[in-house]
Amino acid sequence: MAATGFTPILSGDAKATRNKQKTRAARVVSLYERPPPYDAALEELEAFSLDRLKVLRGIERLRLSNASEAELRQKTKELLRKYLSGDELRKDKISHFMLRLAYCQTKDNRDWLVDKECELFRVRFEELVHKEQKDFLQDIELQVGLVDQEEFERVKGSLAAAHGGKITGTHREFFKVPFEAVPSLVATRRVFVNRGWAYVGAHQMAPLVVGRFKEHLAKALQITAKAWPHVAATDESNRLAPIVSFLSKQYQGSSDYTEVQTSGNSVVTLDEIPNLAKRHFPMCMKHLHASLMSNNHLKHQGRMQFGLFLKGIGLPLEQALQFWKTAFAPKVPGDKFEKQYAYNVRHNYGKEGKRADYTPYSCMKVISTTPGSGEHHGCPYKTFSESSLRAQLQQLQITGSDQRQVLELSKNHHYQLACGKVLQLTHNGFQAEEGINHPNQYYKLAKDANCNC
Ligand code: SF4
Repeated sequence: MAATGFTPILSGDAKATRNKQKTRAARVVSLYERPPPYDAALEELEAFSLDRLKVLRGIERLRLSNASEAELRQKTKELLRKYLSGDELRKDKISHFMLRLAYCQTKDNRDWLVDKECELFRVRFEELVHKEQKDFLQDIELQVGLVDQEEFERVKGSLAAAHGGKITGTHREFFKVPFEAVPSLVATRRVFVNRGWAYVGAHQMAPLVVGRFKEHLAKALQITAKAWPHVAATDESNRLAPIVSFLSKQYQGSSDYTEVQTSGNSVVTLDEIPNLAKRHFPMCMKHLHASLMSNNHLKHQGRMQFGLFLKGIGLPLEQALQFWKTAFAPKVPGDKFEKQYAYNVRHNYGKEGKRADYTPYSCMKVISTTPGSGEHHGCPYKTFSESSLRAQLQQLQITGSDQRQVLELSKNHHYQLACGKVLQLTHNGFQAEEGINHPNQYYKLAKDANCNC
């Protein structure tokens, strides 16, 4: 065998034989390329999906709480044992495909699902021993070759150089992949490259395989998003559609905060907004409110982020129209407001255009936007400079080591944890280990706690 030749993992015959068998690898990890071939009762569909959501939300919480890699792996295994064991393969496949249906409709939901499923996939892949990883790579027909003993001896020196001067494993711990499949490893010189092949350690394979999984799932969700409305409108309108709709609202735990409260104390009036902003709004909404008050204007993205938030806390449409009109009044005359802005407010409440009931933005959506010049939307823990954030914290009486902790969390991109910490520091009785998922969740938690600000 030439030193740079490609030794496929299995020959054609061997592959055919192996394809008839289910490897352990194929039971533990899957690209979910084919819909599950199982019958399931409707109750099972819902129960399995809720259990998978518990695993994915558990992973999200671990990430938000800055868990170490070892802790993430350990806790994920525990979550899998607790929620997805038993009829493992069936439950895994059914729940995955159900969540695809539930989370395909909006970009936010698709991104969330892809992100969490990738984490789960990665942990599972890394748990496989080398032979199982090899089986899986063969199952998904990734162009990967083995390194035999003779070749290993020949390239050992170069491998050692690329791996920091030391190789602890044997030839069995290396794969060969086309170098363009691992651009980040090549760019950072963490692999030995020879004649188009990158010699990748088994521990370096996960990003490559997760990349494949991610690409596949993102594409599948786009296709499902296009197909599902047609299916839901016909045969499945009474069967699957209610479950899918219910599941799609579950990732924040209880509510998607779309409902405008209409009874008793939960209706908010425009006169209450300044006081509520001061005491119970998260920093993103405090900032939008303050900018609106000082500039008598907000650009489109800011109006969307803030307007939908206000709708979610219970500001009725008529009050919302009055609120925006009054705030804009010094700069925008009443008739111009009616022509240019009132439509948008009504639109957000589902009274114009497609008459869709628009959802307040989640933290994930807010964080993913970047305000341009003269814009004030986005998450301040991400967009503010350190000095601006410090000044905001100062205003909330957050100083000393508490302030440093919030600044440190923001600097390390843990925006939702920083936000949770601020809520904890300004409202007695709230524990913030898990961070904040939604501005309207912050508001609700803040209102339910005792404000000490
Ligand atoms: S973490 Fe969420 S609620 Fe808090 S400021 Fe950022 S976007 Fe707003």
